[in-house]
Amino acid sequence: MKFTDFNLKDTIQAAITDAGFTEPSPVQKDAIPLILEGHDIIAQAQTGTGKTAAFGLPIMSMMKADGSVEGLVIVPTRELAMQVSDELFRFGQKSGLKTATVYGGTPYGKQIDRIKQASVVVATPGRLQDLLMSGKIKINPKFVVLDEADEMLDMGFLDEIKNIFTFLPKERQTLMFSATMPKGIRKLAEQILNSPKTVSITKSESTNTNITQLYYVVQERERDDALVRLIDYKNPNKCIIFCRMKKEVDRLVAHMTAQGFKVSGLHGDMEQKQREVTIRAFKQGGIDIFIATDVAARGLDVNDVTHVFNYHIPFDSESYVHRIGRTGRAGKTGEAITLVSPNELRTIKRIEKDVGAKLVTQVIPTRMEVQNNRADELIAKIAETKVTENAINLVKTLQHDLDIVTIAHLLASLVQEESFVKGKDNIGLGLEEIELLIERAMQNRGGGGGGGRNRGRNNRGSRSGGGGSRHGRNGRSGGGDRGGRSGGGRDSRNGGQGSRN
Ligand code: ADP
Ligand code: MG
Repeated sequence: MKFTDFNLKDTIQAAITDAGFTEPSPVQKDAIPLILEGHDIIAQAQTGTGKTAAFGLPIMSMMKADGSVEGLVIVPTRELAMQVSDELFRFGQKSGLKTATVYGGTPYGKQIDRIKQASVVVATPGRLQDLLMSGKIKINPKFVVLDEADEMLDMGFLDEIKNIFTFLPKERQTLMFSATMPKGIRKLAEQILNSPKTVSITKSESTNTNITQLYYVVQERERDDALVRLIDYKNPNKCIIFCRMKKEVDRLVAHMTAQGFKVSGLHGDMEQKQREVTIRAFKQGGIDIFIATDVAARGLDVNDVTHVFNYHIPFDSESYVHRIGRTGRAGKTGEAITLVSPNELRTIKRIEKDVGAKLVTQVIPTRMEVQNNRADELIAKIAETKVTENAINLVKTLQHDLDIVTIAHLLASLVQEESFVKGKDNIGLGLEEIELLIERAMQNRGGGGGGGRNRGRNNRGSRSGGGGSRHGRNGRSGGGDRGGRSGGGRDSRNGGQGSRN
């Protein structure tokens, strides 16, 4: 199926081509024709599956650009408001459809001016309710969209939403989009939708199969070491580390910074300006790692996040789904990695069941494995490197005093110097131990999983072959391209060791 199979107007089709979309996603395939036929819909699909375009394209195709507000999109957070309105702006530009973004924490004046010129308003519930109740704006949208409806209810916006609907025309087409369908959402749907059609992308389709989901079992006190080791091993392009609390975000920011990583925290208490600057830096690569709370990172759409880490397991399956949806976006692959303590094994099993996807358990790599990995990266990089004239001259100069093999050894040592992997060798539990604990946790539902502590450390058989066979090659090794992290910063790891234990 192609986008041209839909009855969308030419200027919208042109915008789709510009956006580089070739094939509609499952939720787009189902929702777009229904919306074009004028139905109310309630649509469930996982994050990252293209819900914005699923409602944006058809409603904008039906708009007249007559200078009135024809579409209203309500979203849970400021970040989402900006993101969705950016995307809708691009879809509507060629059709002469302007977009206004409305959220709290900024002056009213400019927003109101924008709304007066806009065809589409993208708003957060609080500010929108203010504007409507105070009579500062009067709008009669034909299309009303509740985007990320489950998150809005989670954030406690139910009253605002109900109130907002009292200001909206009865004659309207209402579309509700949500990643999950808890009871509250269905109840709200009954109240605001009119004979809706349901679009539900089944679990296997809606679970983003581009995301590999892994978990590692560690003791409570090992979380920091495990995180650093995994980041060293996975070498993410960009990643988000999720914490449950703001306090934890602050602590981890300090910790990771001390380890030499380029990190920044993102939480709800930050000033809006500061959040925007931080998010931009993350998108543009000035920051590699975001450490965030659930609320702060909701809906965040950064296309090249390669890894999501759950420093702590989230409280519920829905948060888990939202968190991991920050990676594997726009057709790219991603990894979602969760650290769990033995006591949390039952929770992770429940999440696995709820999301309907396989969560694979793995063992935290040893120092040697990280070093071997870096050696492989370095070898690949060397193979790709082009010889420069400066390099030839440098080698010529060195050859006055040294033979070529010695020069090669010295240069290789120089490149590897900074990337020696520190920390203790074995972190977390071995596979057999994990299996045993899972078995026990699932049998004896009331009992804790802590009993297996300190047993089975020598039981990490699944990994010994891999590490051992490569011994001869690189006792220690490294990769030159850990761009942006200073060697000095990494060196502080040993110093910090004492205080962490
Ligand atoms: P959701 O709201 O379901 O979480 P988004 O609407 O934010 O997902 O879309 C996620 C990303 O996928 C966005 O960057 C968007 O531009 C991109 N995208 C959406 N639809 C398509 C498509 N048909 N083909 C390629 N990329 C798409
Ligand atoms: Mg969305």
